[in-house]
Amino acid sequence: MKTIIQMREHPAIYVLHDTINTLFFGDALELPTFYRDDEAEGFAACFFRDDEADFVGFNADVLKPSAPFDDLVHCVWHEAVHQFCQQQGIRHAGKNGYHLAGFRDAARAHGLLCEKGANGWEATELIPENRDRVVEITRIVLDGLKGRSWEEIIHETLD
Ligand SMILES: [Zn+2]
Repeated sequence: MKTIIQMREHPAIYVLHDTINTLFFGDALELPTFYRDDEAEGFAACFFRDDEADFVGFNADVLKPSAPFDDLVHCVWHEAVHQFCQQQGIRHAGKNGYHLAGFRDAARAHGLLCEKGANGWEATELIPENRDRVVEITRIVLDGLKGRSWEEIIHETLD
């Protein structure tokens, strides 16, 4: 089953994506639709695009409050690389999700380590300094959200 994750349900995903986008993608990424995919296996997230929009799916494990926060950071970042490649027309994944050199180059250019794994260049890893920058800003933004609606924050930012 696939369930769309709203901002109010899991603001960290939205804030992480926005922060990674600003710091490491020059705001090139569009806001995707995030959803929970209860049937997802293997790595904790997946990315696809239809004609209209990008979708980023997370398996339920990474969304549990008990899951290590870095797993979520890593997931959002890894999928952001796929999203970037898709938007830029870079070939990044082959059949069966095999990760191509285009993915590797984009991952390394946008703040992640990337080595060859069982399924091509899939083995991304967080770089501690980059991870710390993203987590620090994400925490500040999330603290600002406490007890207030996302709409309030948005209005404040836009006004
Ligand atoms: Zn991937």
